[in-house]
Amino acid sequence: MRYYDAHLHLQDTRLAPHRSRLLEGLRASGVERLVTNGTHPDDWDAVAELAAAHPGWIWPAYGVHPWRVGQEPAGWEAPLRARLEADPRASVGEIGLDKWIEGHDLERQQQVFRRQLEIACEFARPVTIHCLHAWGPLLETLQAFGELPPGVLLHSPGASAEVVRQLAEMGCYFSVSGYFGDMRKKKYREALAAFPLDRLLIETDAPDMLGPDACCAEQISDEAGQPLNSPLNLPQIYAMVAEARGLRLKALALQVEENFSRWIGMY
Ligand SMILES: [Zn+2]
Repeated sequence: MRYYDAHLHLQDTRLAPHRSRLLEGLRASGVERLVTNGTHPDDWDAVAELAAAHPGWIWPAYGVHPWRVGQEPAGWEAPLRARLEADPRASVGEIGLDKWIEGHDLERQQQVFRRQLEIACEFARPVTIHCLHAWGPLLETLQAFGELPPGVLLHSPGASAEVVRQLAEMGCYFSVSGYFGDMRKKKYREALAAFPLDRLLIETDAPDMLGPDACCAEQISDEAGQPLNSPLNLPQIYAMVAEARGLRLKALALQVEENFSRWIGMY
């Protein structure tokens, strides 16, 4: 079986004590590609180092996460352009809108988000979008933007079936995290059923988004003993999605491989 993790943060410093064991485990379990997403210029070096150490296996994404908006240094666009220029595999992420986080400044988030969409278009690169409690503003921003970058991925989107339908019409992709394994959460259950099969991707978002034990059995902790999600949970998330969508695991894995390739390309 070949697995693809469409979204995670391997560069996260909380994973440092575990990283070499995790990378070995990921190779051994058949993980073919991992898209590791930056969150702010201060972690882009670490993303680039991982991608350079594992060319063609770990793919880099560079972006300013909505939680870090307000902390971006002046002129952050130039280093983003330089990263994209330097690596044809690099995409733009994690970017987006978030009205859930305390003290958010939606207007500023929208400015930074739009700038990053423009830069992605300039370089014809895919993007990975985070959206929490901001589906209305996200749809408005994307609709008003004009021609979108090639390959727009909504990561772990707990959106209504209607929002999923509208995003799918715009050509978006959707990646399912371990959170969707919590079937008590109606919004995740409904969203999982609504994703078009030919736009479906799978992710761990490790070290974040630790889902229920049924699909996130492998747990690790940070230095303070706080539980973290492990990227080794990827095959379990595939199994959860296969069951929820009534597919054989092998058929799902082949479909996700095809979708991944269409979303971000293969080298
Ligand atoms: Zn993420």
